[in-house]
Order: sequence, then structure tokens, then C-alpha cells
Amino acid sequence: MLKTDCKVAQKGFSAGPVFFCRKAAVYPDPAEDAGLEEERLSRAVEALHNRLSGRLQKADQAEAELFEAEIMILHDAGYTGRARTLVKEENMNAAEALHLAEKQLCEKLLSGGDPYIKERCEDIRGMTAQLISLLSERGTDLPREKCILAGEELSPSDLSLIDPDLILGILTEKGSPTTHVSVLAGNMDVPYLYGVENLEDRLCDGDYVILDAYSGTVIIDPPEEERKAAEERRNRLRREKKQWMEQAAGCFTKTKVYANLSGMHELETLQKTKADGIGLVRSEFLFLNREDPPSEEDQFEVYRRIVSAMDGKEVVIRTLDIDSDKQAGWLSIPPETNPALGQRGLRVSLLNRELFGSQLRALLRTAASGNLRIMVPMVTAEWEIDAVAEEIKAAALELEKRGESYRIPELGVMIETPASVMIAQELASRVRFFSIGTNDLTRYTLALDREVSGLESFYDPLHEAVFRMIALAVKAAHDHGIPAAVCGELGGNPAAVEKLIRLGVDELSVSVGKICQVKKLVSEIEKRNPERFSETNPEEQK
Ligand code: PEP
Ligand code: MG
Repeated sequence: MLKTDCKVAQKGFSAGPVFFCRKAAVYPDPAEDAGLEEERLSRAVEALHNRLSGRLQKADQAEAELFEAEIMILHDAGYTGRARTLVKEENMNAAEALHLAEKQLCEKLLSGGDPYIKERCEDIRGMTAQLISLLSERGTDLPREKCILAGEELSPSDLSLIDPDLILGILTEKGSPTTHVSVLAGNMDVPYLYGVENLEDRLCDGDYVILDAYSGTVIIDPPEEERKAAEERRNRLRREKKQWMEQAAGCFTKTKVYANLSGMHELETLQKTKADGIGLVRSEFLFLNREDPPSEEDQFEVYRRIVSAMDGKEVVIRTLDIDSDKQAGWLSIPPETNPALGQRGLRVSLLNRELFGSQLRALLRTAASGNLRIMVPMVTAEWEIDAVAEEIKAAALELEKRGESYRIPELGVMIETPASVMIAQELASRVRFFSIGTNDLTRYTLALDREVSGLESFYDPLHEAVFRMIALAVKAAHDHGIPAAVCGELGGNPAAVEKLIRLGVDELSVSVGKICQVKKLVSEIEKRNPERFSETNPEEQK
């Protein structure tokens, strides 16, 4: 038995046999027949194309974007096109040609320093590994039973080959919580751990592993009684989750539990959870990973779909929030020493008024037929809110001229900088609600970036300084008769929920996967304190 600490990309717990996605070895032998070698390469490209297209047909919108991007790269002249040239002109074998083409393309792309491109290079490396497997005999080697998928590094195309119902969990040597594989693991609701050194030397296909992606540990080859206990825990967690879903669907709470929506792929799951509404739509998902900004019409279409999916429940859409890890290449922001303290959040909208105007017009048009509120991120000064109000008026005027129907929705502000906490009274007099973004508020209060590795022990998500800031913001909101929500991760942290409610927070907006658990927790807290949460369920009054 071997127990190792790892990093957590997606929380959860699972156990089962390993299926190892090994990368086939590449040898520098020249091709025996360049014509035949080119044919082998073409067949491998076609086989991978067919696999990706198969997954594309079954994918939801967000996954579809990943698979479409992979198909485009697969046929890129600088990638497989270059590999073909290397086979034809340099007499290289197909695997080596692919390797070299991948290396040259990634070097060229990475010289730009764009974080989006970095992730694309990881995808290209994953595709090369798959093409090389397809060239070798391992091409048909896929799991047939439920398994923990392991590999040095996995890509969306690796996952595209495998029936998602067979994946119990994911374990890799290299990875990060922000990769596409992590997004897919989150969608599939499976735990994902990474950071195990020399994984390939430690694991064989069929080895039994326990993944504890709550504590960040993996146990390889545990004794029989530990396996049994792990399987019981895994099955119990599944049953509990199902129960939460059922119980949460029917329970009324005075403190509203809303959902955070970071992409359209979450919408269907969100509808099943019966959340009270959406407290944060991170609209930037519409603006990233593309070559130009979305048009007003494109935005209107997406906002309308979200609002109508919620069937009259409240939806809060946040305007574009560019961040250090959410950069849009087309915005051409000059390199900054510290992007977390540079052009981000509302600043970008106020510096790009046309872009802001088109987003506001799309939102105002959506509000004409939907229960929509707007909020703005990263506010630090009152004049910024005054400027937003002016832009909203201008957007309304433009729609008026065009004869479009619109409605001016309530405006809210995200409290996520220490400055916004200190001027919360002034801000509260200008807006109709607060939403406290504890992720950024913690980051800027503790002067510590969550993404910097090695400093985890200094990052305390339950820091008293943050709770005191929340208390100030909630008081300012209530002094002005407006509600205060928490939409950062703290709102979904079971260790914080009761404290937040006691501070007077009116709404918690949490990630889709946490809604049921938080709703159940809130309902228990409210039941224990009937004098404070005595409001009756409107459904029961009917
Ligand atoms: C936050 O900062 O808490 C928040 C909800 O916004 P984001 O995580 O998108 O920055
Ligand atoms: Mg934020």
C-alpha cells in the first residue's frame, strides 16, 4: 500500500481499478516507405477526427466548443500538415514527425505568452499522444469497465474516447484546476487529483486506488478492508447526493440559495437542482476563447436562453469581468506586471465604452421579457457606479431610437475590493443590491493570490478579516434597505454558512454542484432558529 498527497482539481471521493492512458514511445527510425507512412498518418488523423466528431454530436454547448477547437487544430497546416511534409520531405516516421510538428507549433504559439494558447498547447500534446497510439497497436485500447482514469497528463481528446459513465475519477501527474480536463471532470461530477510524481512508475493498469479529493490523498493498492470501506463510502456519498437533490428540491428557506453559472453547460444541471434563481452569471464565458468580441445579438440570444430556462426566477447577470486568469486575447491589453491589479473587471468596460454599450443593450433587451438584474464587478469608487448609470441611460436611449423593446433592470454592485467595503454606505445609496465576491475580497484583503502555489498555508478562506468586511457590507446594505448576497466560494463552504447567515446575509449564490447541500444546511440552520427565520413558505399559503 502507498499513500500520497496530491493536489485537488475537483473535489469528491472515489475508488476503483486504474486504467492508465500511457503515451506510446517515439523512436527516431526513418520511414521505410514515405508514401505508406503518409497513408498511416492520414488514417490516424481520420480515426481521431471520427472520434472527436462522435463526441461533438453528444456534447453540450461548452463541451462542443472544446471538441470543435480540437478538430480545427487536428487539421491545421502547422500541425498535421507540417507532420505530413516532414514524412514526405525528411523521410521521418509518422510518430516522430508528429512529435516534431507539435513541438515547433507549440514553441511558436507559446512565444506570445497568452494563457489561453498555453492550454491549447496542452490539448495539442494530448492529440499527438492519441495519434501516436492510433499509429501503434494501442489504438483500440480503451477501458471497458468503470475505472479511475490515470495518466501523466490528459487532454479533452483523451476523455473524448471514453464513455463518461465508465470514469469514476481522474488522477494525473501534471494538471491544474483550470484546465479543460478539470472543467470536464466537474461536469461529469467526478473527483480529479493531480500532482503525483512519477505516476507511471507507481501505477499499473488494474491497480486499485482510493481517490480522496476532499483531503487530497491517493492510496494505491490498499488492503481489502480499506477497499471495502472506500466502496461503502463512495456508494453512501452517491446515495446522499441523490437524497440531497430530492430533499433540496422541496425545501423552503428564507435565506435564498441561488446558483452561480459559469457556462451554458451548467444550465441543464442547474435546472434539476431547483435553485431559487441565478445569483451570478459569469458573462465572460461568452467573451473568452475567441478571436473577437460577441455581437449584441449573440449576447442577447444567450442571455435570453438563460433567463427563459429559469422560467421567471430571478437571474443576476454580471457584466464582463476580465481577470488575471480570464484574459481575452482580442482586447489587446498591453502586458501588465500584475494583471490582478490592472485592467480587469468594470475598469475594462469603462475603458471600452462601445463594448460595454453592446453588453448593456443586450441585457436591457433581455430584461424586457425576463426577471433580470445586472451587477458590475471590481468596483472601487462611487464615480464608477455613476458612470455605469450613465451608460445604462445611453443604452436605453439607443434602443428607444431603434424601436426595440427594453426594460432598465435593477443595478447591483459586487463588493469584492476592500475599497468597496469602506465606501459601502455610499455605494448602497446608489444601487439596489450588493453581492459580496468573497474570492476576490479574500485575495485583495490578504494580499495573496490563490493561484500562487506553495503559499496555501497562508490562504485562510475563513479569515476573520474577511468576515468583518462582510459584516460592514451587510450593515451598509441593510441601512439602505437593500439585500446583500454572497456569491464567492465562501457561500458554499459548510464551515461558513451559519456564520454568514448570522451576519445577516440574505442570499447565498453557490456553484451548481453545491446548491443542494447548501440548501439543506440553510434549512437546518433556519429550523434551529425559528424566532429569526419565521417567514412561511408562500407555496403553503396557497
Ligand atoms: C468572487 O470574486 O468572489 C466572485 C464571485 O467572482 P469571480 O470568482 O468570478 O472573480
Ligand atoms: Mg471576483
